[in-house]
Amino acid sequence: MISVAIDGPAGAGKSTIARALAKRLGYIYVDTGALYRAVGYYALQNGVDTTSEHDIARLLPYIDVALKFVDGEQRVFLNNEDVSDYIRTPEMSMAASNVSALPVVRAFLFDLQQNLAKTNHVVMDGRDIGTVVLPDAQVKIFLTATPEDRAGRRHHELQRRGMEADFDEVLKDVMQRDYNDSHRAIAPLKQAEDAILVDTTGNTKQQSIDQLIRVVEGALAKL
Ligand code: C5P
Repeated sequence: MISVAIDGPAGAGKSTIARALAKRLGYIYVDTGALYRAVGYYALQNGVDTTSEHDIARLLPYIDVALKFVDGEQRVFLNNEDVSDYIRTPEMSMAASNVSALPVVRAFLFDLQQNLAKTNHVVMDGRDIGTVVLPDAQVKIFLTATPEDRAGRRHHELQRRGMEADFDEVLKDVMQRDYNDSHRAIAPLKQAEDAILVDTTGNTKQQSIDQLIRVVEGALAKL
């Protein structure tokens, strides 16, 4: 099985670009952030502090998270309910970032991610895919852009979906999540030694997609 691991900070365009790449290659696209979002969602629904390892650990036995692929699109199921449309708000982003710093949560989601890559060709995106989840991935990409550029994209996306958002707030959120993700003790966001760095600052969506397809197809051709 072939795995393409794509890591990088929030808002670098990972999901849009990875989805397009997976389609082109005929692989499944696995958005691992959705798993952390689903756990965060369950915690918020149940009024549980997303930073408390003790309290979150007690919730995990009640959580069944599964990914299903409908027409090539990933849907995330929480206790058999499709929650894909509820997990994209800024509040859920922060909850996901909080729970993702907890070792029990990372261990809880680890096998699910590895098993998907054992049975499918995957383009998998996240923060620790090339470093921890799929260290043997054939191709590893670290996708990044400046914080302002990334906040601009998130802001635009929120507006497009009809959500009120203030640019400075979004930028603050992006920087806070970057800080959390790269400073946590377990599986921090960092570029794998053998990852190819791709910077999408200033690119249009299509330019970033074309750039990544070029880089990944070039790397796959050398295998
Ligand atoms: O990628 P996305 O923004 O949906 O991820 C939400 C949060 O989940 C991130 O801020 C990060 O803290 C966490 N995450 C992670 N490891 C992954 C994917 C996401 O820690 N592989």
